[in-house]
Amino acid sequence: MPGIRTVGRPMNIKEKWYLFEIAKGMMVSIRHLVSNIFHQDRMPTLQYPEEKRVLPERFRGRHRLTKREDGTPKCVACYCCQTACPADCISIEAGERPDAGEKVAVRFDINILRCVFCGLCVEACPVDAIRMDTGKYELSSDSRKKLIYDIDTLLND
Ligand code: SF4
Ligand code: SF4
Repeated sequence: MPGIRTVGRPMNIKEKWYLFEIAKGMMVSIRHLVSNIFHQDRMPTLQYPEEKRVLPERFRGRHRLTKREDGTPKCVACYCCQTACPADCISIEAGERPDAGEKVAVRFDINILRCVFCGLCVEACPVDAIRMDTGKYELSSDSRKKLIYDIDTLLND
């Protein structure tokens, strides 16, 4: 056809009769299959979920809120993480600690469905109250509601 150019060498008769090429491809697959059966230790895949990947130290997993020595949340409800979050997935409500007169988060929700795991919330926190060092990455659930982590979930992770 005018305007169409073939690239590379023309196919020979064996290649044109494609069954030979299919057989060649199948042989490669069978070779790998047999090799993987007898040398499972050399396979690059993991037997997930029985085997888990070793994560790098700086892996950003599911969030947690840290606590002070007396067990109360470190968070001072400054909204820095909420402001820094590019995905708008943090929602905080501030209250006051009755004993110390300090600001404290009374509601702290992270909508993990929106989270892009950028870590900006952790960087923005001035008091190291939020971390992503849980190493948890299996976040599936049967309901969207369960994927909005509230303050109790985040404090106990
Ligand atoms: S990791 Fe990024 S997207 Fe997720 S909550 Fe923190 S700032 Fe928002
Ligand atoms: S987690 Fe840190 S940045 Fe976010 S509101 Fe609490 S103190 Fe502020």
